[in-house]
Formats: sequence, structure tokens, C-alpha cells
Amino acid sequence: MLGYLLARAGVSVTVLEKHKDFFRDFRGDTVHPSTLEVMRELELLEDLLKIPHQQLTSVGGMVGNFQFKAADFRHLPTHCKFVALMPQWDFLDFLSNRAKSFPTFRLLMQHEATSLLTAGGVAVHTPDGPLEVRAGLVVACDGRHSTIRQAAKLEVLEFGVPIDVLWFRISRKADDPEEVLGNINYGKALVLINRGDYFQSGLIIPKGAFEKIQRDGLETFHNDLRKIAPYLGDRVQELQNWDQIKLLTVRINRLKRWHLPGLLCIGDAAHAMSPAGGVGINLAIQDAIAAANILTEHLRAGLVPENVLARVQERREFPTRVTQFMQINAHKAFAKIFENSGPIRAPWQLKATTHIPGLQRLLGRAVGLGARPEHIA
Ligand SMILES: Cc1cc2nc3c(=O)[nH]c(=O)nc-3n(C[C@H](O)[C@H](O)[C@H](O)COP(=O)(O)OP(=O)(O)OC[C@H]3O[C@@H](n4cnc5c(N)ncnc54)[C@H](O)[C@@H]3O)c2cc1C
Repeated sequence: MLGYLLARAGVSVTVLEKHKDFFRDFRGDTVHPSTLEVMRELELLEDLLKIPHQQLTSVGGMVGNFQFKAADFRHLPTHCKFVALMPQWDFLDFLSNRAKSFPTFRLLMQHEATSLLTAGGVAVHTPDGPLEVRAGLVVACDGRHSTIRQAAKLEVLEFGVPIDVLWFRISRKADDPEEVLGNINYGKALVLINRGDYFQSGLIIPKGAFEKIQRDGLETFHNDLRKIAPYLGDRVQELQNWDQIKLLTVRINRLKRWHLPGLLCIGDAAHAMSPAGGVGINLAIQDAIAAANILTEHLRAGLVPENVLARVQERREFPTRVTQFMQINAHKAFAKIFENSGPIRAPWQLKATTHIPGLQRLLGRAVGLGARPEHIA
């Protein structure tokens, strides 16, 4: 997104991606109303929505057999009052293809940044050997295992996380529940994301529990899934070996300082997000927009002093802190769920909460727009 915005403003930009394509299954697939609004501001929305996707106007859950709506997007002050569920590789292919129409944009696939150059830029590993890419400014947006922030030795504040996620697919039938995302029961939480003919599924497990789950065997795993979401029935048998089930380690952390002279970190590289609330992509894109708004004029002039880089952190740190605070509290709730491996009954507090007027709209705003939504300057 930042590459697109800078190239659109005439800044010469090179995007490095270490993989040969964007096609990987562990990506979150939520395009939030705030991102759709920005795509509209860029006059890209109409074409983007031609890509097959599902539209989620609310998200909810099922605790035991109590079904509830948690967040409602239908009243947002945006053009699109829904989250678009779209494979992230489709979104990234779309954006990068559009960016390629700008003469100052360059995307280099299979180019892995390995370290920072003292003269400015990065050392890169490519299939054809090592390379140096010189740049006036390096923006590390290389995710939660960021090589570049490590190379820069920026101080990381880690927040303990009690969960990991197992990620897999199960086929979906037309009469399966439409908008229920989280199923909580028997000491586990199963997130089922409607992707048309299949569910992208995430089983939230205690951190480090995957080995034991494997030792207990696939049959126990199938039974667990069936107990949590009985409507899956025999479809749980589609999971026939552990290779179909990927362990995704969850982290929450943030950098104390997001910048050094010639370097800025954004997205998960600056603040790794948990999947709780499905908002990490949104936050990363908002960082990119804020960075473009603040940096473009300076990049055009050819010099970005560090105090200008600091302004990006000043602008984006507040939404990051608010979101991570909410995620850390959601994790505490998950840790409580793990304590009871029997059938669960929805607590009265949850039932009462669903009757608070305006709360679902408020949560719709928190998830769909986030704190401090950004717009294209
Ligand atoms: C299990 C799980 C599920 C999630 N589900 C959701 C969800 O549904 N919705 C949501 O909003 N958020 C979700 N999140 C959070 C979300 O994935 C992140 O917050 C978001 O992807 C951050 O975006 P990013 O661009 O900063 O980093 P990433 O999406 O991680 O992108 C980093 C990119 O940099 C590339 N890269 C890495 N290192 C290098 C290198 N050295 N050189 C060149 N390229 C490199 C990677 O290949 C990748 O393409 C989830 C997180 C987890 C762990």
C-alpha cells in the first residue's frame, strides 16, 4: 500500500518481497471498511470489488449454544458497510498490478532483505546471488518476524501471549451458519471464516499445546472439532494428516522506537498483532497511509529527517496501543476458556452485554474503522 501511494505521488519506490508470489494460506483475509474507503478515495474500489469475495455485515459468536452478534458494520459512516473477505493474495496482486502502471514503481519478487547498508538501503538475497539496493529511506514492513528491525537492533516490548492458532480448511455447505465466526465450547475456541465453498478455520489453543494435540491423535482432534461446531459433522474427516493443519504462533509486541536515521518500521514490523479481532491488516494499512501522508513531500525533496519519521510513530502509536490493549484482554478471556474443558454455558454478563444499546455498533466501529482512521491526503 505504501509502495502504491508513494509511486502514485511520483516518488521512486522499490518493493522487495522474499517469496515468489503472494499465495500463502496463513494470511488473514479481511479487507476492512476503512481500507475499502481508502480504495474508494483512490478510485480503485469498483474494480477491487469485482474480485470474488464475501461481504460480512456483522460478526458474532456462539458460546455453548448461545448465539450472539458482537460487531455490526451496517451503520458505519463509510461507503462499504461490510468487511470484504477476500484472499489476501488477490488483494495484493490487485494493488501491485495497479502500482506497476506508475513509472516510478518497482516490485522485486524473491528478493529477501537480509541486512541494512551503512550507506543507506538494504543487502538482498536473490536466486541469482546477493545484491545491494540503495535507498534514501528503508521502510521495514516485513511482518512480525522482521529481519530488518532485528538488524537495526530496535528495542522490542514483548507482551506475553497465552495462545497459538491451528489453521486449516473444512468444506462449507450452503446451509451452514452465515456470519458466526467464533464458536466457543469444551475449553476451545474455533473460528470459522466463510470463504464460499470452504471455511478457513482457526482453532485457538493454549500456547505450546500443539505437540500434545498431535500425540492425542487425529481422531481426538476430529471429535473436538465436532463437539465445538456439531454442524461440521463428518466433514472434520477431511483433515487426514497433520500437514493439512498449520501451527501459527501468535505474538504481541511493539517497538519502543519505530525509526532510526534512514529507517522506519510500520505494520507488524513495528507492532506484531494477534489475530484477536482480525484487525492487524487494517492497522498495517493505516500505518502505510499515515506514512505516505507524512513522508511524501520530504521524499520528493530527497531528504527525510528523523524527526519526520518520528511523526509517523507519533500518529500511529495511539491506535496501536489501544488495539493491543484490547487484544491482550481478549487473550485473558481465551485463557479462562481453556480452564474449563467441559460444556460451557454463556455467562450472564455476556447475555446482558448483548442487550446494551449501541454496543454492537460501537464494536463495529472499533473493528471496521479502528482508532484514528486515516485518509489519503
Ligand atoms: C494466525 C493469525 C491470523 C491472523 N488473521 C488476521 C485476520 O483475519 N485479519 C487481520 O486483520 N489480521 C490478522 N492477523 C494479523 C495480521 O496477519 C498482521 O497484523 C498483518 O498481516 C500485518 O501486515 P504487515 O504487512 O505488517 O506484515 P505481513 O502481512 O506479515 O507481510 C510481511 C511481508 O513481508 C515479506 N517479508 C518478510 N520478510 C522479508 C524480507 N526479509 N525481505 C523481503 N520480504 C519479506 C513477507 O513474505 C510478507 O509478504 C492474523 C495474525 C495471525 C498470527
